[in-house]
Amino acid sequence: MYKRFCLLFCFVFSSIKTEIILNKAFLHVGNSKDKLVFYFNENPKVNSTSSKLKNNIMEYRFLFPKIKISTEANKMINRVKTKNNFYDLKISKKLGDLEIKVIFNTKKVIDIEAYSFTAITSAKGVSINILHKPVSNKISKKNVIIDMGHGGKDKGAVGKSGIQEKDITYKIGIDLYNLLKDQGFNVYLTRKKDVFVDLDKRTSFANSIPGNSIFISIHANHSNNSNTCGIESYYLDYDLLRPIRLPLRLANARSEVAQGDRGANDFLRPLNKSKILCELLHSKLIDDLKNINNNIVDRKTKSSVSQVLLGTEMASVLIEVGFVSNKKEEKLLSSPEYIQAIAKSLSEGIQSYFSTGS
Ligand SMILES: [Zn+2]
Repeated sequence: MYKRFCLLFCFVFSSIKTEIILNKAFLHVGNSKDKLVFYFNENPKVNSTSSKLKNNIMEYRFLFPKIKISTEANKMINRVKTKNNFYDLKISKKLGDLEIKVIFNTKKVIDIEAYSFTAITSAKGVSINILHKPVSNKISKKNVIIDMGHGGKDKGAVGKSGIQEKDITYKIGIDLYNLLKDQGFNVYLTRKKDVFVDLDKRTSFANSIPGNSIFISIHANHSNNSNTCGIESYYLDYDLLRPIRLPLRLANARSEVAQGDRGANDFLRPLNKSKILCELLHSKLIDDLKNINNNIVDRKTKSSVSQVLLGTEMASVLIEVGFVSNKKEEKLLSSPEYIQAIAKSLSEGIQSYFSTGS
């Protein structure tokens, strides 16, 4: 009896300590790079192998040992499993391990990379990037993609008065849409009404639009401390992604890529553009809103890894326009004049971003 108890105890204890749970899975589809992103509660172990199946066909296998898959992640996995023109993505659970296989033609897929990171939500992420030949040769058109945060069943942050983040982001988004349309921009919305849209559907949609695009994700903030207030803006910093070492590839897999085709510059370009855009829109917003909100708090620009910033292939920024948990800002965010002022400031900021030749 004692022995049995001990065994049970030890088992429960060790399983609590080591249980790693997969909570979310996304597939951000891009013009030349697709990103399969997993979110865990803790940093998982990952083993990877590559093998040649036949001429020009390779398999890359990632094994995450001892993973529990949440119900939500299970649904998301079924959504991201895919077979397309470039690769066949197989995700399965084998003896408690999570196995991912990417089977591809080396004439179409150029390389596979993997990164680990800590997301803004503090979840532990792993991104497996599949670099492939471009879907289209993008023509130079100036596009603005407005991402109105949350929607449908996902209310986002909710204020004491009952004000919901999804409605604030929608109102700002629509005002911004109209202002930019009037100025002759090509403007797109990741959601047109009060509906739930998966984060990777939003990024994949943005990536599918040809041209020189920017992506603006609008959000409102929440804090348990009701005194916390102000505006903060985020951009992706690639330094936050830690490369995962992958096995050496077969020679023919890499022969497609000319030296210098890719590398540090490829990462620096979107990073710098996002940072420039973020700093421009943020400082303008603080300046412009001072007229209405004289004690406005500048919570500065920050680098972080969030789904929409990670999944978009263009200059992208996420702006938290204020705290619904703060009485004063909740009231301001309920007023159409303040909403209009935010939209006006953003539209002018976007105009000057494009006019400076970015
Ligand atoms: Zn939000």
